[in-house]
Amino acid sequence: MQNSQSPLFQSPLFQDAISQLESASSIMNLDPNILERLRYPKRAIQVSVPIRLDDGTVKVFEAYRVQHNMTLGPGKGGIRFHQDVNLSQTAALAMLMTFKCALVGLPLGGAKGGVRVDPNLLSRQELQALTRRYAVEIGPFVGPDKDIPAPDIGTDGQTMAWFMDTYSQQTGYAVHGVVTGKPIGIGGSLGRAESTGKGVAFCIQFAFEKLGLRLDSNTKVAIHGFGKVGVPAAQDLAAQGARIVAVSDYTGGIYNSRGINLQETIEWVKSGKVLKDMPNVEKISNEDLLCLDVDVLIPAAISGVITEKNAAKIKAKVIAEGANGPCTGPAIDILTEKGVFVIPDILCNAGGVTVSYFEWVQGLAHFFWDLDQINNKLYGILNNAFHRVADCADKYKVDMKKAATISALSRLDAAMRLRGIWPA
Ligand code: NAD
Repeated sequence: MQNSQSPLFQSPLFQDAISQLESASSIMNLDPNILERLRYPKRAIQVSVPIRLDDGTVKVFEAYRVQHNMTLGPGKGGIRFHQDVNLSQTAALAMLMTFKCALVGLPLGGAKGGVRVDPNLLSRQELQALTRRYAVEIGPFVGPDKDIPAPDIGTDGQTMAWFMDTYSQQTGYAVHGVVTGKPIGIGGSLGRAESTGKGVAFCIQFAFEKLGLRLDSNTKVAIHGFGKVGVPAAQDLAAQGARIVAVSDYTGGIYNSRGINLQETIEWVKSGKVLKDMPNVEKISNEDLLCLDVDVLIPAAISGVITEKNAAKIKAKVIAEGANGPCTGPAIDILTEKGVFVIPDILCNAGGVTVSYFEWVQGLAHFFWDLDQINNKLYGILNNAFHRVADCADKYKVDMKKAATISALSRLDAAMRLRGIWPA
């Protein structure tokens, strides 16, 4: 049993990730030695990032990079700029990345990084300084063969460009493979920006097929978090005929039972404005959006928004976990009991890491694929993963969340046994 006083154990997200690991391990009868190893990250690095603010003062930010398990390959996982970032939360997200990469069959391990900062309070110049200094501080631990960061909450292609440039300045030549989610002009992949949302939409399509539901203009969709994941998911589902009735950001949401004006809303958000300021639309709170009478709910913002407090009030038939850990373990039990089909995060949002993997491969090969190739390969990988998880759920008579973790652990177990513990 893990020491609950350990700094790793202090966030609800880490406690949830450990429960997820333990529950899946006990169902599949995982070797207790493998379980013991997976409770702990391989490396957890904390660095201090000093920058000079525009007003001339120096401010130091706490930052992390956690590499949970690298049995299958180099670490892979995003960098988050958010005021709630801490070691325990970063370790939990790194563990989820281990499961995600193993689940979809990528030759990559799990990692995550972050800076405890509210990026909205920094100027562009300050953000650039923060990113570059963070890249230097964690530089010895990352690289195309070691650990490959990507964007997450509060970071984007520009952040990755600054990171890649800083790393390349240190090595003396352009190192494309050090990060993914880069702009196309410096070795980014076609389709990467929308890949997580596209994967969410694919998974909803697979779930509808499995449940015998039709995806058409009567399919009502609500999206909590209208950012890099939520926007492309909405676009793809709308293109398939679904009706997007509500979307939200951190300031609140908008609602229209006949369907919101998606194009106008995307333009509003992309111009940097928040939804609470959008004129001539019906407003809805984030809490009410989660409980709307819809067919599909996509929590695509932050973790822990559906808990045992509000799970019983959820009316959606399908929940597609676009964010990492948006439903807590106890909430999933309540939802499963109610007959809600939850597509788990490590499957549902794996489109991003899958196309990140394509970007890394293209960068190493210096040979780039067209968009159709990328989307077809993405569809194939997620289709396989979805059906492997669904088969696993049938085999063990468990929900998709447990099945996804069991499926991932089976792959990891096989690889960890082959590599063994050194020294023996
Ligand atoms: P983003 O920063 O682009 O968008 C996040 C959205 O959520 C924004 O609309 C923001 O306003 C909203 N939000 C933030 N806090 C909120 C709150 N308390 N209540 C309601 N809305 C809130 O981030 P993103 O890249 O879209 O990531 C969203 C989630 O998806 C995160 O959990 C992230 O870890 C996960 N994820 C992202 C990717 C990716 O490729 N971007 C891949 C896998 C998982």
